[in-house]
Amino acid sequence: MLKYKHIDSDGKNIDLPVGKVVCVGRNYLQHINELDNEVPIEPLLFCKPSTALSPLNKPVVLPVNLGPCHNELEVAILIKNTLCQASIQEVEEAIWGVGLGLDLTLRDVQNTLKKLGHPWERAKAFDHSCPMSQFVIRDKVEKLSNIEFSLCVNNEIRQQGNSQDMLFSIVKLLVAISNTFTLLPGDIVMTGTPKGVAALFVNDQLTIQLNEHFSVTTRVV
Ligand code: ZN
Repeated sequence: MLKYKHIDSDGKNIDLPVGKVVCVGRNYLQHINELDNEVPIEPLLFCKPSTALSPLNKPVVLPVNLGPCHNELEVAILIKNTLCQASIQEVEEAIWGVGLGLDLTLRDVQNTLKKLGHPWERAKAFDHSCPMSQFVIRDKVEKLSNIEFSLCVNNEIRQQGNSQDMLFSIVKLLVAISNTFTLLPGDIVMTGTPKGVAALFVNDQLTIQLNEHFSVTTRVV
């Protein structure tokens, strides 16, 4: 296991425990269309256990012999207060900061599970399925509704997103999630992927950028 801890923009440890990751599916229209999925009427939620987390600045490890593993680059929100049936104000006060995570997805496995009506964990919650960047402290992020980010694979842009295109905003998502799962200090919420999902291959070079804040380059192994 690659040891994971939350880190800040200076690479220092953040004093919060490592918890669960709550993920949102189908939150950008163009991504819903590229996979021919239906537009949800409420947020589509699933979880990854803490064992899914790994540091993004270390090589990304793909599972072997399980078919294509797709990139899904997503805005990640680090939670610092307990949120249970939270109000908008409680949500706004509970955000430690903003980072970027990869929701690695075994697409063939997921398609098989979907057809069977089974849960998605085998496709999305395996060890190291959630490489995670450093977090920029909330005060340094001007607007949660205007976060620009991108993924380059071997120096070609593959995903480019802005949180303004989310179907459910970050604040709305956190309110909705807190009505189902209590969020604890140290939990992370992944907010859905924009279009551009595709298979990753060993030796791919990934550059992940949160505009105006950071860029991380890593390699697939
Ligand atoms: Zn995702």
